[in-house]
Amino acid sequence: MNRSTVWHPFTQHALEPPMTRIASTDGAYLIDENGNRLLDAISSWWVITHGHRHPKIMAAIRAATEAYDQIIFAEFSHEPAERLAQGLIEIAQPGLKHVFYSDSGSTAVEVAIKMALGYFHNRGEPRDRIVVMEGSYHGDTIGTMSAGERGVFNVAYEPLLFAVDRLTFPEAGREQDMLDRFETICRTSGVAALLIEPLVLGAGGMKIYEASLLASLKDIAVRFGCLLIADEVMTGWGRTGTMFACEQAGIAPDILCTSKGLTGGAIPLAATLATAEIFDAHLSTDRRKTFFHSSSYTANPIACAAAVANLEIWQEEPVLSRIETIEAAHRCNLARFAGDPRFANLRQAGTIAALDLVVPTGGYLAEVGQQMRALFRERGLLIRPLGNVLYLMPPYCLTAQEVDRAYDAIDEVASIVLERAR
Ligand SMILES: *Cc1c(COP(=O)(O)O)cnc(C)c1O
Repeated sequence: MNRSTVWHPFTQHALEPPMTRIASTDGAYLIDENGNRLLDAISSWWVITHGHRHPKIMAAIRAATEAYDQIIFAEFSHEPAERLAQGLIEIAQPGLKHVFYSDSGSTAVEVAIKMALGYFHNRGEPRDRIVVMEGSYHGDTIGTMSAGERGVFNVAYEPLLFAVDRLTFPEAGREQDMLDRFETICRTSGVAALLIEPLVLGAGGMKIYEASLLASLKDIAVRFGCLLIADEVMTGWGRTGTMFACEQAGIAPDILCTSKGLTGGAIPLAATLATAEIFDAHLSTDRRKTFFHSSSYTANPIACAAAVANLEIWQEEPVLSRIETIEAAHRCNLARFAGDPRFANLRQAGTIAALDLVVPTGGYLAEVGQQMRALFRERGLLIRPLGNVLYLMPPYCLTAQEVDRAYDAIDEVASIVLERAR
């Protein structure tokens, strides 16, 4: 068999079997070349919101290709980008007034960091400290890796990463420590921004914290004049039960990053939303105050048209009631594992549910995730545990029965790996 020349992401090719080729997608399913249907219980790495190939989004993409391909986005604009920006401002928290486009979650966050530093620089009061929460993930570029959790994933690149200040994750009982630490950092150094995943730290292990803490962090940020950057790349578009997770804390960030679900997951696009104050700090007859950022595919019209269709789906279809169906199905199923000694830390935020498999610690941790992944695949499910953390983040088209099926598989697979570990 010919070895593929493709180098896959987050893949140790020496240990992986050859990649399964997917021939098509349909709603909640990936269909491989042999016609096997795989239930996509993690929304293809958290991007697919409504389901694969939502007809309205596919139609919008087809229609857009009749008029557009890529168009230079300096000097020119186009209808899909204008409509989308307007639509985003309408659904975002009050105060967010300007939309800057890029093409991935990582670039949306890079843009946010640059906006924050540019804001202070242009006002003649430079600040350069970024504060983050321990265990966070913001992408895989040098800047976003710097802000994210350090570990095996980025040790080779460490010499190039810049220093940030880290707040310890607010485990129950440690909440005040975190708030106090943030205040101390704000007092002692020029903090430009708190960069945070609201409510759920995704790649860091689906760690969930109280919305009230986000509100308290915002209060401190306001007191010290530092900006709040909400990285809603994963939490946006209904994942946590509301359109954006910040809504649950009743706060408006100064900068909001969105990408994964922006086009319903169909095609890459990202947006960084900012307040008028931040935009205005870059508005000047002095060209040196320009916001110096661009990517070649900024505001791709086809992607923008897909995102406009996504906004229409949110307006026209019962998306929130589908989300409620999934929320309720998670709740029932998690309840069935309550008190089960195989699992710990059962938790849920909207359509995201997670539980830790109780395993002996040590190098075994990484291995158990791989084993479970293979066992899920054998059962026709795409579920990729993060080490011993099992989680589900399905597209909203899943039925309650399909959610139950995922938990049945978790039940079975957990017993198999724990039996093997004995
Ligand atoms: C996935 C993710 C990113 C990075 O997005 P990419 O599109 O993979 O670059 C950033 N922040 C959060 C919270 C994410 O979950």
